[in-house]
Amino acid sequence: MVLLDYTLYIWHYLTHKVPFLWRFHLAHHVDMDLDASTALRFHAGEMLLSVPWRATQVAVLGISPLGLALWQTLTLMEIMFHHSNVRLSYPVERRLCRLIVTPRMHGIHHSVVQKETDSNWSTIFSWPDYFHGTIRLNVPQDKIITGVAAYQNPAELTVGKIMKLPFTVDRPSWVVPQRGRPQREGLTDPATGLLPEGLYRRQSPMPRWKFLRPDLRKPARKRFIHRPQRPGHRHDCCG
Ligand SMILES: [Zn+2]
Repeated sequence: MVLLDYTLYIWHYLTHKVPFLWRFHLAHHVDMDLDASTALRFHAGEMLLSVPWRATQVAVLGISPLGLALWQTLTLMEIMFHHSNVRLSYPVERRLCRLIVTPRMHGIHHSVVQKETDSNWSTIFSWPDYFHGTIRLNVPQDKIITGVAAYQNPAELTVGKIMKLPFTVDRPSWVVPQRGRPQREGLTDPATGLLPEGLYRRQSPMPRWKFLRPDLRKPARKRFIHRPQRPGHRHDCCG
C-alpha cells in the first residue's frame, strides 16, 4: 500500500515535469475553483497514459487483486478529501498533514505560483514530500489563487476546450499572458509549518498580479476553506 502510494508520487511528479504528460495533467490543474469535483476532472488521455505505469506498479511490487482494489478505493477517497474545501480546524489539520495529504496542503499544489505547484505531490500519505523535501505548508489558503497562470480566462476553460487543451497548448503555463510570472515573496519559514488563514497578512503578500482578482479580501466562511475566486465563476452550491 505504502509503495503503491509512493510510486504514485513519482508518477504525479512526472506528469508535471515531462512536457508531454503535463499537457494532459494541465487539464486537471486549470480548474479555478478547487473542490471535490476537481478530484474527478482528469483528462481521459491522462488516465490512458497512466495504464502502463499502473501495470508496472502492480507487476514490480507484486500486488494482489484485493490489495489493488483496496488501494484504489483508498486513493479515490483521499483524492476527494484533499481536493475538497472542507475546512478542518487548524490544529487538527496541522497534525493530520504530517500523516496524510489534507485540503490545505493540496490547495498549495494548485496555486498559480509555480514554486508552490512544484510541491506537495503526495496522494495518500504525506511522507514522500517530507522525505524528498518537496513539502510546502507555509502558504495560507486565502492567499492562494487557484489554477494555472496562463489559463485565467474562464472563456478558455469550457469542457470542450479543456478536452482539446493537450493538443492546443501554445504558451508557457506559469506566465500570465502580457503580465508575467506570478511570484510570492516574504513567506514565513519554515516551509513545513502549516499556516492558518487570516494570519501573517503582512508577511505573506499576494502574488504581484493580484489586480486580476479584485474580490480577494472576503471574510472566510466557517465550514469551507475560503479560496479566492473570480467573480461570476462560482459553484451554485457554495457561492
Ligand atoms: Zn498535480
